[in-house]
Amino acid sequence: MQIASINSGSNGNCYYVGTATEAILVDVGISCKEVEKRMKHLNLAMKNVKAIFISHEHTDHIKGLAVLAKKYSLPVYITKKTRRNWIKGISHLFNDFKADERITIGELIITPFEKKHDALDPHSFIISHKATTVGVFTDIGIVCDEVIKYFKQCNAIFLESNYEEEMLENGSYPLHLKNRIKGGEGHLSNKQALELFLQHKPKFMTHILLSHLSKENNHPELAKQLFLPHADNVLIEIASRYEASNVYHIENAPEKTFVKLKRYVQAALFE
Ligand SMILES: [Zn+2]
Ligand SMILES: [Zn+2]
Repeated sequence: MQIASINSGSNGNCYYVGTATEAILVDVGISCKEVEKRMKHLNLAMKNVKAIFISHEHTDHIKGLAVLAKKYSLPVYITKKTRRNWIKGISHLFNDFKADERITIGELIITPFEKKHDALDPHSFIISHKATTVGVFTDIGIVCDEVIKYFKQCNAIFLESNYEEEMLENGSYPLHLKNRIKGGEGHLSNKQALELFLQHKPKFMTHILLSHLSKENNHPELAKQLFLPHADNVLIEIASRYEASNVYHIENAPEKTFVKLKRYVQAALFE
């Protein structure tokens, strides 16, 4: 599979997940023009995008939705509760989805699941192609059972790592905002994201793109350095607030292959 963050942060989120020929976008929180420009730069073709999935109604996830969906006549998967009257002119493109029910877009299978976040009906998604699965997990108030269940299935993941606890505590945000962020319906801290990784990382996970980093209460290097000592063979990268990431190629290497390889190496050693 091919994945890229087109932008990630409270200033706008948009994630590209697909194959060489078909893809979906999760959220369109930056302008249509900017999505087009960045995808072109990454050599990702807009014609491959077959659908848009919306996680929740916060502006940083839908700002460019109406223009982009309309321009390319793309189906938009968004729950009924999340729809707002002010997303005008694209209601004919809307499709509903339900948590834990798979949706097939070409060869991609998308499974939404519920998460805790202070929005009307927030969901996150895993996207699968054959044996490979990619997760887009941002705006997560707390590591609930659903998050753990789907995290364990991912070969690669965009994982929220929003704030550094001390920076938030000592920072300039008003108290109510601090409480909103760290409360169970706000965002995941670096430490919470790391704990999820340490406790539930599946053996086949190869890529983590730390996502939705706060400008005021986090620093990309800080988040990355926290993960690196525990990375093992997992590539740790930051999904930036200012530019698109690289395109990463994700492939599931079944454990069987490793076992076979190990046996082969062992046999060769003892011959
Ligand atoms: Zn957000
Ligand atoms: Zn949000």
